[in-house]
Amino acid sequence: MRATCRICRRHRPVMADDRICFPCSVGITHTCPICQAVIPGSGHAPCYPCSQRRRSERQIAEEAATIPIRWMSGMFIAFCESGRIPLDNGLATERIARAADACRRIALTAPNPERLTTDALHAAIGAEGTRRVAPLIAFMSDVGVLDWDRARLQVLIENERVEAILTAHRDSPHAPLLRRYRDSLAARNRKPITQRTALTAALALLAELGDATLGDLSQRHLARALRKSPGHRAALQGFLSFVATQGGPTLTSPKPRRLSPVAQEKRLRAEIKAWRKRLERPRSAGEARAMLIMLLARICALPITRVLALRRDEIVVTRNSVTLWPAAEAIILEEPFASTFLRWARWTSGWSSQPGPWAFPGRHGHQPLSEAAIAYHLDRRPTPAENDRRRS
Ligand SMILES: [Zn+2]
Ligand SMILES: [Zn+2]
Repeated sequence: MRATCRICRRHRPVMADDRICFPCSVGITHTCPICQAVIPGSGHAPCYPCSQRRRSERQIAEEAATIPIRWMSGMFIAFCESGRIPLDNGLATERIARAADACRRIALTAPNPERLTTDALHAAIGAEGTRRVAPLIAFMSDVGVLDWDRARLQVLIENERVEAILTAHRDSPHAPLLRRYRDSLAARNRKPITQRTALTAALALLAELGDATLGDLSQRHLARALRKSPGHRAALQGFLSFVATQGGPTLTSPKPRRLSPVAQEKRLRAEIKAWRKRLERPRSAGEARAMLIMLLARICALPITRVLALRRDEIVVTRNSVTLWPAAEAIILEEPFASTFLRWARWTSGWSSQPGPWAFPGRHGHQPLSEAAIAYHLDRRPTPAENDRRRS
């Protein structure tokens, strides 16, 4: 059978079982005519790296001929031969083709190809393209034919995203309004990323309005949008003023409701009661620890982050109490809460299977549990099945 010999990589008859040609199997060698290396196999052919390099050089010359600007074609050759592409490797083919393609597109679209700018490059090959030919871009800025400005590229990419949002909603009855809003933001020199957040918030509000006209926009829509995404409050402020200048209604964003001290106290007590109850029969150790952490934070009036950062060596256990942070707050937990604490916190310092100093370690042990993990357990409502189990 014929196949590629595993040793000399030539296509010739090979022994079927180990895919080595006859000359290689009996130890015949020859000298590579290009690099003079002694290589396995008979004949006069160059070694694999040399023949691969020859192929790459041929490809470079062919590609260079298709780049319409002479200096750019020369720059392309210099780049390929600069050592940034391993020419004696099969991977070279793809990389040479990619760089040549970028050069051709830049040569065809750059308005002033004598002085390449970040904008021209982005216009020619796009953000994705600049990522694909990063070594070529590095070379061009090293040899001084390109003023590469990474911050500028980020701006261009953000602009593109803003444009994509507008394009996605171009069939909406509010498309002209959105575009005018973007233009007004740009005119006031708002950064593209700010423009994008502003547009996203505006879109969320307009989604509540649906296809109705801007004149119908009401506090009700605004309240609903804010209930769904409270995070848009700040970003919407500007849009509300803009809507008023566009003949729309003057709306004011409702203040987030503040509870009276009495109501706050009442809610706090209700929360504590609910968490204690969940802690009595937790569905998982994770839930138990989340409840314990919330109770500690509320009862001791500490920020959750402070509780999460509790270290094992900051826990002192005596016969019927537990002291946390003995050197600082010195919070004393009495029974029965002390026992509950000791049941769910990692407090013995000799626990060898779980390294790390934390009383509430996260999944990998070298960091404390995250606030997100706590939030997950707080929000998770019991399923009906779990409720039944709890009652039984
Ligand atoms: Zn061989
Ligand atoms: Zn060679």
